[in-house]
Amino acid sequence: MAYDKENIFAKILRGEIPSNTVYEDDQILAFNDIAPKTPVHVLVIPKGEYIDMDDFAANASAAEIAHFFAKAGEIARGLGLHEGGYRLVTNNGENAGQIVPHFHIHLMGGQRIKEGSMARGMDGA
Ligand code: 5GP
Repeated sequence: MAYDKENIFAKILRGEIPSNTVYEDDQILAFNDIAPKTPVHVLVIPKGEYIDMDDFAANASAAEIAHFFAKAGEIARGLGLHEGGYRLVTNNGENAGQIVPHFHIHLMGGQRIKEGSMARGMDGA
């Protein structure tokens, strides 16, 4: 499957669609999810064109991968999520119900997340 340059996150990266930026550098962008499932719900994406975790893990450089996850941790810490704990989720492909075909992780926290609940469809979240 080829990367779809018209996916919504590609448009956000090109500035064609607004987003609420939490953090940005030359390699990654973090912004608030438009439909937050928890009080803090941030999406972190690489600026490179990767469809999903499978694509990112297979084709991004070790430096890109290291930077991405180091910064994701820093962002979570900067938001204070490390204090109460948080969930990091990525949906990969159809079985996981991935909606946007540009690799992203969800950083979710700010409240107790029900045991066993997933990124989507969380009761009371
Ligand atoms: P997925 O199921 O692909 O892991 O999750 C995609 C996420 O992107 C969803 O949580 C959804 O709310 C979020 N999302 C979809 N469209 C937009 C948008 O235009 N702006 C922002 N900020 N988030 C979006």
